[in-house]
Order: sequence, then structure tokens, then C-alpha cells
Amino acid sequence: MTYRAAFDRYESMTYRRSGRSGLLLPAISLGLWHNFGDDRGYETGRQIVRRAFDAGVTHFDLANNYGPPPGAAESNFGRMLATDLAAHRDELVISSKAGYGMWDGPYGDGGSRKYVTASLDQSLARMGLDYVDIFYHHRPDPDTPLEETMGALDAAVRAGKALYVGLSNYRAEQLSRAAAILSELGTPLLITQPSYSMFNRWIERDGLLDATATVGAGCIAYSPLAQGLLTDRYLDGVPADSRIRTSVFLNESDLTDDTMSKVHGLNDIASGRGQSLAQLALAWALRDERMTSLVIGASSVDQLNANLGAVENLTFTEAELREIDRFATD
Ligand code: NDP
Repeated sequence: MTYRAAFDRYESMTYRRSGRSGLLLPAISLGLWHNFGDDRGYETGRQIVRRAFDAGVTHFDLANNYGPPPGAAESNFGRMLATDLAAHRDELVISSKAGYGMWDGPYGDGGSRKYVTASLDQSLARMGLDYVDIFYHHRPDPDTPLEETMGALDAAVRAGKALYVGLSNYRAEQLSRAAAILSELGTPLLITQPSYSMFNRWIERDGLLDATATVGAGCIAYSPLAQGLLTDRYLDGVPADSRIRTSVFLNESDLTDDTMSKVHGLNDIASGRGQSLAQLALAWALRDERMTSLVIGASSVDQLNANLGAVENLTFTEAELREIDRFATD
């Protein structure tokens, strides 16, 4: 059926400014790492993307290697753009990344200008786009000078192939150095994308939010639901269609007694607030205003809908935060 975007799509989402830039992002962004490859039903992914846009989720997060096979998520999203969202390109923020292994030979991985530039061209071709809104270096490459990688990001912006640049999986100290190089080149760092959740609090110890704020960039956390652990998915066993059963990135061995007792403790706190565990986990990850957005995954429209409800209650009392801290540990 022909898609008509919901007329009230901007009425319920909260938008936050990315650092000191002009760009606002939805508090909840949709990621296409899982659930959008050729291993999944195309129509389910399409319904998830449509529902996200209808709910004010203007930002879609991709990378060269998302699939399977690598590249498939961008190709599938490109189809959705062409059939459903073409008329709305100026309402969309589309992100891609380069940094993980993508093709054979010495130029298909890392942070060289050669790889980063070619990868962006491939991503644009797969999605059928002239430009992405945010282009990230996906992970630090210790073997390439930062100046080279940042120079490639800056060149992508100058060539009109990206509007903004981001860094992912960089620590505070690396980010500060990279942002200084970018600033000198005249392309300020827009955003950083670290992992962060109640079960993964490294950025607090690393001082990443402080470093990010100092350089005027925003922050968007990925896997804020710990890939599904911070939801009701595993409260009563391991469903056949869950990420533990369908992906190598989450394992049954992650469901230790310790983790499950924390999940149950957090689930009780969520119930007390009238939220689901997933909603609590998302609201908590957004409790610092410097957290611009969270990039979540969803394998169904129902999951997405449930998670979007998180923005209805983003405030916490000091007592609630202390209680959460008892269970929200790495
Ligand atoms: P999440 O922590 O949000 O996990 C999403 C998964 O949790 C879903 O696929 C689903 O798994 C389960 N889930 C979500 N909502 C619910 C719910 N309401 N009830 C029950 N289960 C639920 O994030 P992801 O790990 O998927 O990562 C999100 C995005 O972050 C990626 O798509 C990608 O864009 C980005 N990312 C970036 C990385 C980087 O290096 N920059 C690395 C990893 C991710 P199930 O299959 O079991 O239904």
C-alpha cells in the first residue's frame, strides 16, 4: 500500500540539540544493525521504518557493514527510501559509518583516506543518496594517523557527500585530539557514538560526556537496551526469535544469575514508575541532557512502539537514581 506519513508525526517526540551545532535529533533514533539484513523479512523492516518516521523518529543509523551480508541494511533501507520516504528526504537525518572490515585487500578496513572515501561512495550508491547527513569513523584505527582519517571526513563534507561528521567507539582522550584536528580543518565534530547502558557504564568512568561537551559535540549512545537484556525479553527463558537465538553478538552465557537478578531488580523499579523495563532503561540513559539521543534496535513494530513510550517520563528523583545504581552495574 502507498505510504502516507502520519500528519501528527512531530507531536510526541522530544528533540535535543547535538552539542553546540544547529542540528536537533530525536531522543530516540532507529538503528539498522540487526533486523534489516537479507536474513529478515523485508516487509517487517519496512513497517518498523514507517512507524518510526510516523512517530517523529527522524534519524536512522546505518553503517557500511550492517547486514547480513555486509551492505544489505543500506540496500534495503535504500529501497524503503525510494518507495516510501523519497518525498521526505529533507525531514530525515541518515547516518552511515566506515571503520570495520568491508571488502578484501588492504583498502577495505581501518581509517585510511583510501578506505573511508571509497566506503562512503559505496554507501551512497547502496542507499541511492547524494549525501548522508552524518558520516562516522566507526572505530579508532591505531595504525593510521588521526590527521589522515579526520582529513578524509573533512573532505567528504567538502565534496558534498556528508553534511556532518561523527566518531564512534572513540575514548575521551582520542576524541579530544580528533575534534581539535577537525576544528582546525573547519569541519567541527557533530557527535560521538559510544556504547552505553545500565549494564555498560564505561563512558562515565572515561569522562566521555565531559570531553564531548568541551568540544561542543553531542553524544548518541548505542545498544542502550544491552541488546535486549534490559527488556522483558529474557525474564522467562530464551524465545526462539530473540537475538540470543538468532545472532552471534548476544549469548545465552550472558544470562548469568547475577545479571538476571539485576534485570529483575530493575524490572521492579520500572513497575513502580509505571514503565516497562525497556522504557526505564531508555529514560535512564537520557537522564543527562548532554546525551542527545539513543540509537535503539527493534525487531518488531510492537517493540518500537513500546520503546517510544520512554519519552513520556524522563525524570528521576535522587532516591530512584540511587536505587537504580544498586542494579545498574557493569
Ligand atoms: P538495543 O540495545 O536497543 O537492542 C535492540 C534489541 O533488543 C532488539 O533488536 C530486540 O532484540 C530487543 N528489544 C528492543 N526493544 C524491545 C522490547 N520493547 N521488548 C523486548 N525486546 C526488545 O540496541 P542494538 O544492540 O540493536 O543497537 C542499536 C543500534 O545501535 C544498531 O542498530 C546500530 O545502529 C547502533 N550500533 C552501533 C554500534 C557502533 O559500533 N557504532 C555497535 C552496535 C550498535 P530481539 O531480536 O531479541 O527482538
